[in-house]
Amino acid sequence: MLSTMMSYPLTTNHVLERAGTLFGDRVVAWRRPDKTVVRHTYADMRRRARALAAALVAAGIGRGDRVATLMWNNGPHLEAYFGIPAAGAVLHTLNLRLAPEDIAYIVNDAEDRIVILDDVLLPLWEKIRPHVNVERVLVAGAGSLPNWAESYEAFIAGRGADYVYPDLDEHAACGMCYTSGTTGRPKGVVYGHRSTVLHSLTIAIPDCLGLSVNDAVLAVTPMFHANSWGVPYAAAMMGANQVFPGPHLGAEDLLDLMAEERITLALGVPTIWMMIQQALDAAPARWPLVKGMRMMVGGSAVPPAMIRAFDRHGLTIKHGWGMTETSPVGSLAWLKPQHADAGYDAQVSVRAKQGIPLPLVEMRIVGDAGEQSHDGKSAGELQVRGPWITGSYFKVGAQPDKFTADGWLRTGDVATLDAEGYMRIADRTKDLIKSGGEWISSVDLENAVMGHPAVAEAAVIAVAHPKWDERPLAVVVAKPGQHVSAEALREHLLAQFPKWMVPDDYAFVDALPKTSTGKFLKTKLREDFRGYRAKG
Ligand code: ADP
Repeated sequence: MLSTMMSYPLTTNHVLERAGTLFGDRVVAWRRPDKTVVRHTYADMRRRARALAAALVAAGIGRGDRVATLMWNNGPHLEAYFGIPAAGAVLHTLNLRLAPEDIAYIVNDAEDRIVILDDVLLPLWEKIRPHVNVERVLVAGAGSLPNWAESYEAFIAGRGADYVYPDLDEHAACGMCYTSGTTGRPKGVVYGHRSTVLHSLTIAIPDCLGLSVNDAVLAVTPMFHANSWGVPYAAAMMGANQVFPGPHLGAEDLLDLMAEERITLALGVPTIWMMIQQALDAAPARWPLVKGMRMMVGGSAVPPAMIRAFDRHGLTIKHGWGMTETSPVGSLAWLKPQHADAGYDAQVSVRAKQGIPLPLVEMRIVGDAGEQSHDGKSAGELQVRGPWITGSYFKVGAQPDKFTADGWLRTGDVATLDAEGYMRIADRTKDLIKSGGEWISSVDLENAVMGHPAVAEAAVIAVAHPKWDERPLAVVVAKPGQHVSAEALREHLLAQFPKWMVPDDYAFVDALPKTSTGKFLKTKLREDFRGYRAKG
């Protein structure tokens, strides 16, 4: 027997209407490249997103056509997040930190028909343009335009007042993002209206972001990668103010913006928060208005020392895990009632885990001998499934190295699950270090090295060793004006790990190479240290 419930499609158009009509006076603000702050409301955003949709339809953009963005986090990008799907088309966010040839490959693979770009990114597009075939280039912002580009403002002007949304299948595509391609060519992940709405609802729940109309959200997570963790949609759904940093991602710029806009929730990868932590450590009383803010941090592991440092500053980190393929949020670490009296140290170690799967997401750990037990110790590959987890890649389909025969996504992460339901990442499969037949987690060592008070950043990679096969090498950046020795770091680690796990080798550098999304770029580090001869 079927239910008597209506068949009501879940679409981003509903979210747009809700934000623009029920929360029409809530703020959408962003920093321009010249650092002035522009203020709109959700009513403005709705009007302009509908204008964009109408203009796209008038330009011949049809259902499922890809419209790309090459933009920083700003108001026009939010309009594109809603306006492109409102035309029945697919928002394809391009990662502006990739090399021009990689962006060109991605534009061609996705067959983007139109691209919207920020005026400050015109020089980047100049390098991509000869290698791609897009029909129209729309430029947001002031600035003079080359003859092959059009003004975004002129494109949407006067449009959309009577715009009627197309009837959409909730399974239709609304967005698209390419994986970073650290292994092989980047692959397209295609988000749907339904998956986006369900993801938005779920990340808003109290035990995830706890998003409400009373929040003011600052997404430092790029809108050009994995939908800025889905927050632009979730915040609009709840009517929370949204503030965007534009291209200004320095610690002091971000802290000033957080204070000025009374931000209650900010999101970013650990490397951003390391910078912010250093700025707060250097001037603890300078930004009193940021106290009480909560931060969602993920994309790579959050060192427990960082959780403690922000607690001291009165800011709370929530640690989450996800991937481009998982829309992206899959799990979040929050405390259960039984941890209330467990003591601060125990609480920090729970909060430093990658967390409990969100509702509707399933996780399992698979080792050589099949599914592992949930004992917090038995490690294996993390596999996930759920309504916002991709089941294949654009054009490529579902290759067996990425999906199991019974329909789970193989994440490439090595993890454990414990009896309380918390998932903990040990490593990426390719980053694990195999020393004398035993596995060493680079993530655990990195977290511990970054727990040393004089260390700003650290990454641990495997280097070849004649006897042990591989040994860990810690590549360390000291905090400005501080010095730390290899001996001091070894002592620090010996207090926490068995001797065979502790690196004998330390390299001190000025900065670590980062990926386009701000993670430590271990492939580059491995190249840099290819000829390195481990001690011992
Ligand atoms: P890429 O790393 O390929 O740019 P993603 O942004 O999709 O693309 O990254 C997903 C990967 O990032 C995960 O598979 C995992 O290895 C890592 N990751 C994400 N969140 C965390 C976290 N909280 N702790 C450790 N690793 C994480």
